[in-house]
Amino acid sequence: MLVLDLDETLWHGQATGAGIGFALRPCLGKFLYGVAGPYDLAVWTSASEDWMRAGLAAVRAATGFDLAGRAVFLWDRSRCSLRRLEDGDFGWHKPARKFRAGWIRSKYPRTRIPALDDLASNYAAGYGHLIRIEAWTGAPEDRELRRLARYLASIVHEADLRAVEKRGWASRTPSED
Ligand SMILES: [Mg+2]
Repeated sequence: MLVLDLDETLWHGQATGAGIGFALRPCLGKFLYGVAGPYDLAVWTSASEDWMRAGLAAVRAATGFDLAGRAVFLWDRSRCSLRRLEDGDFGWHKPARKFRAGWIRSKYPRTRIPALDDLASNYAAGYGHLIRIEAWTGAPEDRELRRLARYLASIVHEADLRAVEKRGWASRTPSED
């Protein structure tokens, strides 16, 4: 089960007077259709439920991929915790102990739950899950999702994905042949 972050990972959203505008990361549709083969997908965002739902609707409209309908779970800010960060401020994080819930564990052992996020601090208490991707805020030439799909395909058969050294994955993975 691949757990996906949303903001600055799959999209960049901005609230405007007319509502929320979501810019989608390049190759997002191809990425989702591609990884939905080898992986079950889930969503964990520190955004609000409204924001998450609006963005997922935009993804569906643009790509046809119904991530909201296909996700094993859709976890928003209410599933995150506040913790004190190094600078003394409080910030959201994603307590990976929630992956131990019985209904998850029965199908997805913790060795089989990689989690994609642009903020490593979100998984400070579950670092073995983390695949960190560069934050995206609109650069049109970005190729990280294409690169990531290749990387995810290369590790899906590893028995213990927590033990796989995932730091530096991007520099070891070409974005295309
Ligand atoms: Mg993010």
